Amino acid sequence: MGSETHKSTFFTGAQRIPPDHDSPVKANLGQGAYRDGDGNPWILPSVRESRRLLQEQGLIHEYLPILGHAGFREAVARTVLGEELFSTKGSHVATCQSLSGTGALHLAGKLIARTNSPETKDPPYGNHFQVIKDVGLEYETFKYYDAATKSVDMASYRNMLQTVPPGSVILLHACAHNPTGCDPNKDEWREIGQIMKSRNLFPIFDAAYLGFNSGSVDEDAFSIRHFIGELNLEAAICVSYAKSMGLYGERVGAVLVHAASKDLALDCQSMLEQIQRSQVSNRQLSQWSEDLLTMSGRIRTMRQKLYDALHEEGAPGTWEHLINQTGMFGFLGLSSQVVVELREKYHIYMADNSRISVAGLNDSNVKYVAASIAASVR
Ligand code: PMP
Repeated sequence: MGSETHKSTFFTGAQRIPPDHDSPVKANLGQGAYRDGDGNPWILPSVRESRRLLQEQGLIHEYLPILGHAGFREAVARTVLGEELFSTKGSHVATCQSLSGTGALHLAGKLIARTNSPETKDPPYGNHFQVIKDVGLEYETFKYYDAATKSVDMASYRNMLQTVPPGSVILLHACAHNPTGCDPNKDEWREIGQIMKSRNLFPIFDAAYLGFNSGSVDEDAFSIRHFIGELNLEAAICVSYAKSMGLYGERVGAVLVHAASKDLALDCQSMLEQIQRSQVSNRQLSQWSEDLLTMSGRIRTMRQKLYDALHEEGAPGTWEHLINQTGMFGFLGLSSQVVVELREKYHIYMADNSRISVAGLNDSNVKYVAASIAASVR
């Protein structure tokens, strides 16, 4: 039929959504996926071994229950809460397998939209906006990052928490904030939790990097466990295994909902089942701890190497933020002019706001990246 055009009856409201910016050349610091020291994708040895075991058992392709694999759901709750908290609060937690972290956010959002209709506040991450709008909730961002200190803007955070309408939903990044790479410290988390409790605010934790950040799930789940264990807050936790297990395309995740009672947890689980049925119908260990250390350790090393190389190059400005940030992403803190120069002159690709994926750095390109940044900021 070639390129004939007809007048559409049904799709007149359709719009072209601009693509995410990404280019695969010299130093690709835009892509949000872990790369090994040679710049290649990495299959975790723990995942390789699990796949071998599954294949040995004989894979089948039957439907799973709507809520997902029961063993998987329990394992997620045990890992995220930790054994101690799971033993006391596990029965107050509804669980549902999801299409990775994004699917979990959808489920949490839909559940809230159906049981309540609060406002949602969020430290800006592009995809949240789309998900929350899609589930039909009101949505606003707040200023999370202070460009001057290159750290979390706690004054703005505090002010937002103290002034939003009671009952609002706050979308929090449990650790490894994307895109800034800056998280509240433990005392700041305690304060955030305290204000949220006193103002009756509901936290949705986006937990896409548990274990990937520090190498320890226990460490990275601090905020979640503090809010549930110490403050007894009702909360939703959206878990993704894309980054922490390197299962990007498999879409493995879960939503956990901590409710005030066992009965309410069962009600929430029943609603999650109904939402899941209407949306997707169905979806699809010690070595893992080592693998988490491998990935988080290499990322930390590359942060340090970039920092050292910038110093050796005598790049003007301060770069401490690079080693203070955590996780895969972080802002370099460059002007858009410098970002364009790096792209056009040096073929170094990153988001326009100078967010880089540190996993894109390796021993072969880190000196080149540092020298190019130094030359461009001079
Ligand atoms: N939240 C954050 C903050 C992320 O960075 C990501 C991955 N880029 C996700 C959620 C969800 O990713 P996925 O759906 O692949 O699990």
